[in-house]
Amino acid sequence: MENNMKQHVQQLLEKRDLPDEGLVQLIESEQADAFLFPAANGVRRRIYGDAVYIRGLIEFTNYCKNNCYYCGIRRDNGKAVRYRLRTEEILECCKEGYALGYRTFVLQGGEDPYFTDERICRIVSSIRERYPDCAITLSIGEKPKDSYRAYFQAGANRYLLRHETANEIHYSRLHPAEMLSKNRKRCLYDLKEIGYQVGAGFMVGSPFQTTEHLVEDLRFLQALSPDMVGIGPYLRHQDTPFCPYENGSLERTLRLISILRLMLPHALIPATTALGTIHPEGREMGLKAGANVVMPNLSPVSVRKLYSLYDDKICTGEESAQCRGCLEKRVERAGCRIVTDIGNVRR
Ligand code: SAH
Repeated sequence: MENNMKQHVQQLLEKRDLPDEGLVQLIESEQADAFLFPAANGVRRRIYGDAVYIRGLIEFTNYCKNNCYYCGIRRDNGKAVRYRLRTEEILECCKEGYALGYRTFVLQGGEDPYFTDERICRIVSSIRERYPDCAITLSIGEKPKDSYRAYFQAGANRYLLRHETANEIHYSRLHPAEMLSKNRKRCLYDLKEIGYQVGAGFMVGSPFQTTEHLVEDLRFLQALSPDMVGIGPYLRHQDTPFCPYENGSLERTLRLISILRLMLPHALIPATTALGTIHPEGREMGLKAGANVVMPNLSPVSVRKLYSLYDDKICTGEESAQCRGCLEKRVERAGCRIVTDIGNVRR
């Protein structure tokens, strides 16, 4: 068995690929870790050295018209206290972030109809005007291609849209009928075509997920070839229909980070907040398993608790500067170093 794992890792390392069967074994087996983690860490080191990129996350609205069964800010969660940031508040977050060394701002939110294309474009262009040397990333869900084009023309250059799960049937068990896997995948290809750097990704251990689904996720990502892949464990939220289901597994998430690093050696892979929530050293472990990005929170402290996708989310009490300092130590503990340049790495 152990020998088998070693061979699978070796093949992934050399060919950047492995038949489904081998992937299933790697994902499911603890015995893989001793080979998988060092191999992935080595590839990250060879390509990126000890550099870890930081992306400042601004959670600018928690209103959402969607009703994803796993998400705490879903439309039907009547207990969620809703908020929206004003443009001046968003710009204030950017200003603070810029002074702390951030050169990428990620605007993430629920799918909030208040933020029409016109409003989004206006926000993006006011950030662009003030910070011509920064990357602007949007993460605001599924939109028509023309909207994506308008944001791009206004100055956005990256877009994060996790595909959540590549399997259509599994997707339909995580989302209401009006949401379609096909449409989300179409969005990712539209974004790429327009010229965005694109981030896809999925939750690990979401309800009803099988190892075969995870293999489909890996195959989808190989075909899409995104610039970034964000994955994190599924975590329960008490006021969602999925509240009875168990959290995803830390170990499985780490294994998938390593597999992704070996399959897509150049990808930007964040050690996510969900990983830091499921274990106090989850992000350090993520970096050691091959991740190379952290995404600290730049939102005003007053709203952080309200952007509650899952229970017990970390980093909701600290000022941005404290967050930055805390992460610096964590990154160092993982044997890496935060770099503050734009990190515009492309193949
Ligand atoms: N509205 C945007 C942003 C969604 S929140 C969009 O549709 O892309 C960002 C990510 O958080 C989601 O893509 C999902 O993968 C993750 N997420 C949401 N609820 C979660 C939960 N309960 N546990 C773990 N991750 C979750």
